[in-house]
Amino acid sequence: MGFLVWLKMKYNKKMRFKISTKGFNDVVDITDKVSEILKKSKIKEGLCLISCPGSTCGITTIEAEPNLIEDFKEFLEKLVPSNRPYRHDQTWGERNAPSHIRSALIKPFLTVPIEEGNLVLGTWQQIILIDFDNRPREREIVVKVLETK
Ligand code: ZN
Repeated sequence: MGFLVWLKMKYNKKMRFKISTKGFNDVVDITDKVSEILKKSKIKEGLCLISCPGSTCGITTIEAEPNLIEDFKEFLEKLVPSNRPYRHDQTWGERNAPSHIRSALIKPFLTVPIEEGNLVLGTWQQIILIDFDNRPREREIVVKVLETK
C-alpha cells in the first residue's frame, strides 16, 4: 500500500509582488504580503513556496527584531567577508561575489506549511527577504500555493 498525497496547484497571475530594497544585506519582513496572497488563494491545507528569482538575494525566517537582524548581518559579514579578493570580482566588474555566496548559502526560496488557511510559523518567526547585492534593487517575489488533499 502506498502513501499518496494529491497536490493541486492553484495558479493565479497576481501571486507575485514587488519589494524595493536598499541592497547591502537590507532585510524586509514579507510575512504579511505572503499571508495576504495565501488568503486570496482560499487554500486551507498545503504548502506555500516563496521564491525571489535572482542570485544575490535570500529568503529565510528569523525573529524580525532589529538587534537580532543586526547580529545576523554581522554574522553574514564574518562568514562571507566583503573585504577580501574574489575570483568573480576579478572577472566581472560588479564586485558582488560575497552577495552571490551569501545567496547560495541562505537560498532565495522557502517553503512553509499551510494549516487552516494560515502559514504555520512560530509567534516570533517572520519570513524575511535579504538583499545581499551591493546596490538598491527592485525584487519580485513569486508565491506558489499547493493544496494537499
Ligand atoms: Zn556577480
